Amino acid sequence: MKKGREVARGKTKVLYEHPDQAGLYIVASGDDITAGDGARRSVIPGKGRIAAKTTARVFRLLNLCGLPTHFVSGGEDDDDNEMVVRACRMIPLEVVVRGVVAGSYAKRNPNAPRGSLLLPRVIEFFLKDDKRHDPQITQEEILQQGIATAEEVATMAEIARLTFEMLSHAWRRRNVLMVDMKVEFGRAVDDQRLLLADVIDNDAWRLWPQGREELMLDKQMFRNLVGEATAEDLARVKQAYESVCEQVGAFPVMQPAMVAIVMASERDKAHVDRIEQALQKLGLGYVHRVASPSKTPGYLLQLIQQLDATFARLVYVGVCGRSDALSAMLDAATTNPVIACPPPSEKFGGMEALGSLDAPSGVAAVTILEPENAALAAAKLLALDDTIFFGRVLLTQANYRAQVMNADLMLNPPPPQHPVMA
Ligand code: 5GP
Repeated sequence: MKKGREVARGKTKVLYEHPDQAGLYIVASGDDITAGDGARRSVIPGKGRIAAKTTARVFRLLNLCGLPTHFVSGGEDDDDNEMVVRACRMIPLEVVVRGVVAGSYAKRNPNAPRGSLLLPRVIEFFLKDDKRHDPQITQEEILQQGIATAEEVATMAEIARLTFEMLSHAWRRRNVLMVDMKVEFGRAVDDQRLLLADVIDNDAWRLWPQGREELMLDKQMFRNLVGEATAEDLARVKQAYESVCEQVGAFPVMQPAMVAIVMASERDKAHVDRIEQALQKLGLGYVHRVASPSKTPGYLLQLIQQLDATFARLVYVGVCGRSDALSAMLDAATTNPVIACPPPSEKFGGMEALGSLDAPSGVAAVTILEPENAALAAAKLLALDDTIFFGRVLLTQANYRAQVMNADLMLNPPPPQHPVMA
């Protein structure tokens, strides 16, 4: 890739300006592998290409999940070790998320049993300062030293936590325990937006296949070497990096999935529109059909057979009021999951039916009244074996939570720090 002026150089990567587009940088990963703040250093030919591929695939997954990252393109070609990113001013912090007791946390907390789960996840900040060996820094110190604002600190902690959960989900599906992880943030040069930046490759996390530390696949293998690394040591490390890169290749692959909305009457289309809008936001494909259990029962059964035979991963949403024979019939006829989402009751003058008065009877399917929640429930079912949907559900829920917290804050603003005395 053609590159512009060199912007910065780290231990394992070099940052360049984009040759023709302002606001973009190019990150080139090198073949170096270092430990102990650069005290141990080796070169593994081809590592840069593996690292670029790994980090591009991780960022592509996170982008697909909806997280704000600096990643734009590249990094995944076989003959390339460079990716294009949005230009950022880096915040000099390492944000570490821990799900299992290990590493420096185990050293600092000798009473915490090594390998035990950490819930809630522990989030720690470290100041990037090689001379002082990247000391841990508190949130108060970050504010006092003007490194980031309180809002930025809260956002970095939340994005780092969501990143950890998304990547853990992807690894868990491959029977690998993600122990901990380090990420870094920058402010986009053009709009100052806080973005997940730097690289996230096999140097930045700990991975224990089957939850067993001795099977580790990450950089800790290199850190644990005693004395000079031999050619065999480095070959073993490279093999682990290649295996991780190959597995990460499947992370941003979305499995084909479909939601079939079946409504008993086209009069419920306005309700169905809301379900469809919410599905669109989650990036879920859908088809909508009208079939009545009382007026066209044969056609409904035929339709279910047709849909079942067409889509490998399918979730039904049944839209039918009153006794909801539709969802009951769907539920009995298909092996796929069925969510009943009855339209608002006419009895209540168009308001949502919140009580049991209008609740469907004899329906085995899960009943959800809010159209947006029905869409989210469909995404949750598909998220069981798809990290992209898992990430989108996680982010949607985090945004719902933030909305509630913000609403509470608006109603109850914090007291002024320096109240004016009468
Ligand atoms: P610890 O604080 O336990 O040594 O590291 C916590 C996590 O952050 C581990 O997953 C480790 O790989 C990662 N980490 C810590 N420091 C660095 C660093 O300087 N570079 C990279 N790439 N990852 C780091």
